[in-house]
Amino acid sequence: MNLKQIYKDCGAYLQGHFLLSSGKHSEFYLQSAKVLENPKLAGELCEELAKVIASFNIEFDSICSPALGGILAGYELAKACNKRFIFTERVEGVMSLRRGFEVKKGEKFIICEDIITTGGSALESAKIIESLGGEVVGFAALANRGFCTVKNLNNPRKENAKLPENLPLFALGNFEFDIYEANACPLCEKGTKAIKPGSRGN
Ligand code: ZN
Repeated sequence: MNLKQIYKDCGAYLQGHFLLSSGKHSEFYLQSAKVLENPKLAGELCEELAKVIASFNIEFDSICSPALGGILAGYELAKACNKRFIFTERVEGVMSLRRGFEVKKGEKFIICEDIITTGGSALESAKIIESLGGEVVGFAALANRGFCTVKNLNNPRKENAKLPENLPLFALGNFEFDIYEANACPLCEKGTKAIKPGSRGN
């Protein structure tokens, strides 16, 4: 499977001059929603991801995703694995478990995102699960942004990675591209302005 080509075909691999939520700039941006708007494709991708996880004999009971980005991927992965699915969400900036979702003592979870960048949101979800007595046994994502090490791809870990090194991350592909400090961006030097992804129809 060529995940990069799938993202390109879906218009989810954007090229331009983007202002990222971190404040940094990039020539590329991944908009996974454009892949996941195709339910059949989303299902097929998550079946592949389920096979990867199964090949490592990871035993788990449930999947949890951080809202909003992780929900579609997590739900499809849970369907492919025939597991329960819950999600965490931010309430006034604080990641929380709501809507009557419960965690059993010792219940084993995989935390699923659409894309793992540094893994910050996934880690916040993991901490909630653990604080309620659950056990996080791994992380999963359709795509990885090159910071955290993917167990099945074995790319090197970079210093910004937040996911714990002792737990596996599974993903279908790894996207590495440069990000720039706003005051040292070659795209800015060429005279174009960085835009927030999503603000101009992307
Ligand atoms: Zn720039």
